[in-house]
Amino acid sequence: MTYRKFNAGKLFTGSEMLDENFVLITEEDGTVQNIVPKPEAGDDIERFEGIISPGFVNCHCHLELSHMKGVIPEKTGIVDFLLRVMKERNFNTEGVQQAIEDAEEEMLHSGIVAVGDICNTTDTIFQKRKRNIYYHNFIEAIGFVEATAEKRFENSKEIFKQFASVYPLPLESNSIAPHAPYSVSEKLFQLIANFPGNQLLTVHNQESEEENEFLYAGTGDFLRLYKELGIDISFFQPKKKRSLEIYLHHFYPNQSLILVHDVVTNEEDLRELSVVSRQLSAETINPKPQTLNLFFCLCPNANEYITGKLPDVDLFIRKNCSVVIGTDSLASNHQLSILEELKTLQRKFPHLETKLLMQWATINGAYALQLDNAIGNFQPGKQPGIVWIDNIQGEKFTPESKSRRVL
Ligand SMILES: [Zn+2]
Repeated sequence: MTYRKFNAGKLFTGSEMLDENFVLITEEDGTVQNIVPKPEAGDDIERFEGIISPGFVNCHCHLELSHMKGVIPEKTGIVDFLLRVMKERNFNTEGVQQAIEDAEEEMLHSGIVAVGDICNTTDTIFQKRKRNIYYHNFIEAIGFVEATAEKRFENSKEIFKQFASVYPLPLESNSIAPHAPYSVSEKLFQLIANFPGNQLLTVHNQESEEENEFLYAGTGDFLRLYKELGIDISFFQPKKKRSLEIYLHHFYPNQSLILVHDVVTNEEDLRELSVVSRQLSAETINPKPQTLNLFFCLCPNANEYITGKLPDVDLFIRKNCSVVIGTDSLASNHQLSILEELKTLQRKFPHLETKLLMQWATINGAYALQLDNAIGNFQPGKQPGIVWIDNIQGEKFTPESKSRRVL
């Protein structure tokens, strides 16, 4: 059998940052054999300057919006951003498909091996059939008006069925997920939470303070969103609670939920969250030592693009939250690159260690998308993809750092 042997200034294993005295050995197809001390590795070692890492996991993307690159200007704020996506997303099929193909190519080359992808349409199926990247498809359900919940859910189920025909087994590669707390009715949340097989879910959470304000007090810029969309929301009763607390109780302890953005999530929200988790486990008929499994997905470049405000990253670290990374779509980002997200985090929060950031981008992402038995670290037998990051200074990224897939 032919082996490949990788040696670099730093070898990131998925959890540890090893120095240049170690060599990663894989089979020709990238299946990990072992990590050994350099003197035991023999000849034909490939040397890289910088960091060698397992492939990246992008926990939040909308591949179907790739044709919107550069269409919406930066810093519009959340409501105008949403309005413009809705009004300007339609485009000719050929252009949409070409943009999807190019965007996937960009992800592949920059080292992304798995994607949690939001789908409102079936536009991306043709590309996903090629199976270049692992996808978990989150078929998005949206509808704030209670009376339309059943119909909206049926629409999502139709799209779900078409994705399920591409990914016949295991069905866990697709699920139906709520868009956001301000755009999904209680009834629709319940239909989603109770859909058979819906174990892995995601939701846009607390992307802006306007979301908390709208749900808490029924005021603010979101009223303009619904007015401009011509949707009568006079039925809506403000909840006198912040966003996260309002909807989390809909989910079950055996479900896993990726909370995306979390820009205005604060200490109070996380305190409430442990209360909700305890209540959930107490309610289960067959109690297991299990609570709703939460992941916090940071998409810093999209936050910079839309509002310029970033989440309280240190809060999530202090509270031991499972953090993962997403690129969001090309409607709100200049590229689909996990390394560019990590560079932004390290630029804004210089004390963040590269090792921690890379754990978020690899093994944590693999856990979140339930692909940890295949990817996420260099455990023997896995085929996680091998990524090379260059232009490192010490252990820190530099503005010139680039990532590329080497196997
Ligand atoms: Zn999104």
